[in-house]
Amino acid sequence: MSSAVNSASLPGQTPKRRYSVFAIAREALRFHTGWGRAWTSPEPKPRYKVVIVGAGGHGLATAYYLGRNHGITDVAILEKGWLGGGNTGRNTTIIRSNYLQDPSAAIYDKALKLYENLSQDLNYNVMFSPRGLLMLAQTEHEVRGYKRTVHANHLQGVATEWITPERVKELVPIINIDGPRYPVLGALYQARGGTARHDAVAWGYARACAEMGMHIIQNCEVNGIRTEGGRVTGVSTTRGEIGCEKLTLVAAGHSSVLAEMAGFRLPIESLALQALVSEPIKPCMDVVVMANTVHGYLSQSDKGEMVIGGGTDGFNNYTQRGSWQHVEETVRALVETFPMISRLKMLRQWGGIVDMTGDRSPILSTTPVGNIFVNCGWGTGGFKAIPGSGWAMAELVANGAPGPLAADFGMNRFREGRFIDESVAAGVAH
Ligand SMILES: Cc1cc2nc3c(=O)[nH]c(=O)nc-3n(C[C@H](O)[C@H](O)[C@H](O)COP(=O)(O)OP(=O)(O)OC[C@H]3O[C@@H](n4cnc5c(N)ncnc54)[C@H](O)[C@@H]3O)c2cc1C
Repeated sequence: MSSAVNSASLPGQTPKRRYSVFAIAREALRFHTGWGRAWTSPEPKPRYKVVIVGAGGHGLATAYYLGRNHGITDVAILEKGWLGGGNTGRNTTIIRSNYLQDPSAAIYDKALKLYENLSQDLNYNVMFSPRGLLMLAQTEHEVRGYKRTVHANHLQGVATEWITPERVKELVPIINIDGPRYPVLGALYQARGGTARHDAVAWGYARACAEMGMHIIQNCEVNGIRTEGGRVTGVSTTRGEIGCEKLTLVAAGHSSVLAEMAGFRLPIESLALQALVSEPIKPCMDVVVMANTVHGYLSQSDKGEMVIGGGTDGFNNYTQRGSWQHVEETVRALVETFPMISRLKMLRQWGGIVDMTGDRSPILSTTPVGNIFVNCGWGTGGFKAIPGSGWAMAELVANGAPGPLAADFGMNRFREGRFIDESVAAGVAH
């Protein structure tokens, strides 16, 4: 891997104001008047070495590792709304790396390992909580499928185990393992899996990028991509023309809209994915549980809300909001296995636009336009991948060619029939 550059030691940058218990105590004594801005809102420069479209987790992590691992800091991250306001701030924060195929296990496990030290690395508490994750098997088909995943994970060096219904009940006392339609037959368990605070992941990366001198430009929608002789020269935005040597598209559900501006097509469908939270209740479940057959999953947030997610809409759309029929469908699906949720009130619901590929695996790729790179297709499950994806994407953008983590995720795989099929291992692919 390329040599690491410590963000605090990059030339010409203001030294990092470290967050620490002493800093908090000091600020408490002076009414918190001494904190600087975590990131600034600069005016765009006429030109950057690298422009990244999309200040979600993946765009920000790509920028961060471009600086940290490759010493490239002349970077602008353009965001049409506010940073982290896309899927990164709308997801249910499940983190795991128990995927079936080798390339997936490699990139998701890299991400998990980076998550384990991310708070220290960024000096920003991302509230990573490796509380354990269970994927329930509620049909014989799932039992076979998950046992196969456990074997695959062992070969990949990813620690997972198959656990019995009794062990499931021990870990999740609120569960009903004897449901009449879908009894719990066991579970695929990853003890290292868990959750993190989604906003904090975006904010932590943003702060670290700003400290390296990178420009995060919010309220700046890219509405055109300029090319000359098969290479990108810059982008047109709502805040003017911005030139660049390299362009990186990291726009999740809007990736195909941007690709169209550059004159190529992506094998992506955009769909709304929804979630909801209950009113806060006392601690009752300290693991994450996914129930793929009935199509729902839940965890309990630090505030006490039950965080509940379901599947995608059955039709392509760009609606960034929730719908009553989905809430009903998801809760109805889960209530047999978790009878207690029938007594909860819903606090709020929302939706995000996810970018789905045919094999349910991401695209980290060069494109038909020489110096445009694309990172998309994380679909319903890309929050967990943010650090690994940023690491791999930075390598691809810096070197112009993928490293080992991204090598299999080029978009040519759809032309060549080399699918990385995760649709079985990741039914509700969060
Ligand atoms: C309800 C829900 C639940 C989910 N649950 C999980 C989960 O539990 N675990 C998990 O791992 N994943 C989950 N995901 C998926 C995960 O959220 C995404 O895969 C991940 O956040 C994608 O990050 P991103 O940075 O690629 O996209 P985003 O965070 O969406 O960032 C892309 C950014 O690009 C910007 N943009 C788009 N077009 C333009 C333009 N023209 N100009 C400028 N900016 C533009 C957008 O405004 C957006 O901020 C969930 C998603 C949803 C919606």
